[in-house]
Amino acid sequence: MDNNKIQAIVVGAGPAGVSAAITLAKAGKKVLLLDRADNPGDKNVFGGCIYTQQTVDIFYNYIDGPLERAITEEKIIMLTDKDSVDISYRYKSNNEYPAYTVIRSKWDKWCVEQAVKNGAYFAPKTLVKELITENGKVIGVQTQFEKYYADIVIIADGVNSLLAKQIGLRHNFKDSDMTLNVKEVFRLPRERLEDRFRVNTILGTSARIIGGPLKDMFAMGFMYTNKDTISIGYGASLDELKKNKIKPYELMDKLKEHPTIAAYIKDAELIEYSAHMIPEGCLDKIPKVYDNGVMVVGDAAGFIDNIHFEGTNLAMLSGKLAGETAIFALEKGDTSATVLSMYYKKLKDSIIVKDLDTHNNTIDVLKKNINTITSLYPELACKALSVLACANGKPKKETYNELFSDIMKSGVIRKSIPLGIFAMGKCLKK
Ligand SMILES: Cc1cc2nc3c(=O)[nH]c(=O)nc-3n(C[C@H](O)[C@H](O)[C@H](O)COP(=O)(O)OP(=O)(O)OC[C@H]3O[C@@H](n4cnc5c(N)ncnc54)[C@H](O)[C@@H]3O)c2cc1C
Repeated sequence: MDNNKIQAIVVGAGPAGVSAAITLAKAGKKVLLLDRADNPGDKNVFGGCIYTQQTVDIFYNYIDGPLERAITEEKIIMLTDKDSVDISYRYKSNNEYPAYTVIRSKWDKWCVEQAVKNGAYFAPKTLVKELITENGKVIGVQTQFEKYYADIVIIADGVNSLLAKQIGLRHNFKDSDMTLNVKEVFRLPRERLEDRFRVNTILGTSARIIGGPLKDMFAMGFMYTNKDTISIGYGASLDELKKNKIKPYELMDKLKEHPTIAAYIKDAELIEYSAHMIPEGCLDKIPKVYDNGVMVVGDAAGFIDNIHFEGTNLAMLSGKLAGETAIFALEKGDTSATVLSMYYKKLKDSIIVKDLDTHNNTIDVLKKNINTITSLYPELACKALSVLACANGKPKKETYNELFSDIMKSGVIRKSIPLGIFAMGKCLKK
């Protein structure tokens, strides 16, 4: 690097930053990837799954990476106070799996190694304190050690993005725009984990949890199987946690105490506790993502699909699109906002803007109907299926009539109409 000047700097070595760096490096561009952590991924929190399609686009050899389990079961666990109904979709596949669980400290490290193998420079333990600007253009970064200069800076510093805020590309999120995610990891001997989840040596389960302690607020739980650990947690809207005056760890404890969830983690050893924010992810709340000499990618730009638990795939894709735009701008010798606007055009043609648009007001509608989804549906599902366990001496007709009357009294049909109309509107929208 001459006089600390390089073609591109990427701040943050999460999925978004590393994808931008590897895209630039593969095209022969000189790129410096910076991360504040001692080891990439050490402090990065997620559920979670990476999604094969975006991963293979960037890491063709991902199968050699530190994957935990291939997901072959998607489960929805609906809880009432004591009971539960599970809906499970198990799929058979010819060694092609749409998602894999990974441990971020291992996965992010491996991804950075691939970027370095392709020619990127990587500096860990390097905190970027601020962007250096000149005449309205970003021209470099100030770290805790020294200044580095570049033709292009890509901001991939995650959900809190102080750097995007510094140059006015991000405003402060409101509590209602953020979910707090709490996660615990439990170790269980591999054979016991596989027996408990009915999975074999490489296959695994991804589950979403609705209701029970998470009822009547915008909150959803998750559970994933790794090789010999289970990740379990929830995401809840910050303003609803405040409104319900519940502390995040108390809610986590209640979730773990529910009999259905307790059975999954029985005798398992708690080895990790973490918490992290996620933006709510809708198009109206996405800030401007480029300016003179700079682009914003991944969580820093708010690219999250909260409905489908997708974040790493949007991070990787946005990193790749920003990388491609940077290559074009560097070759043209023009890194002005006019040229970098190509990044937003690419985002608009991709699933990122399309999916964020689809979900634009979904969260508002879900919030308005949260009691129906998180209380009423689990209650009725449990009640309906309890009929299967009704060898209780009562005539069946009486049991059916009771169930029917409960369903009618609950108003579920009337309460489901707004959700049905909303879903239909989304499907019919061009
Ligand atoms: C509990 C939880 C569960 C999730 N589950 C899933 C899931 O199952 N599947 C999924 O796809 N997504 C999931 N997500 C979302 C996913 O984790 C994020 O969307 C994804 O990590 C975003 O990647 P990123 O590279 O933009 O940011 P991050 O992964 O947050 O990476 C940002 C990087 O920037 C570095 N950094 C920050 N500031 C600085 C600075 N000033 N200087 C230098 N370095 C800096 C950090 O150290 C970090 O390495 C989950 C998130 C949470 C919190």
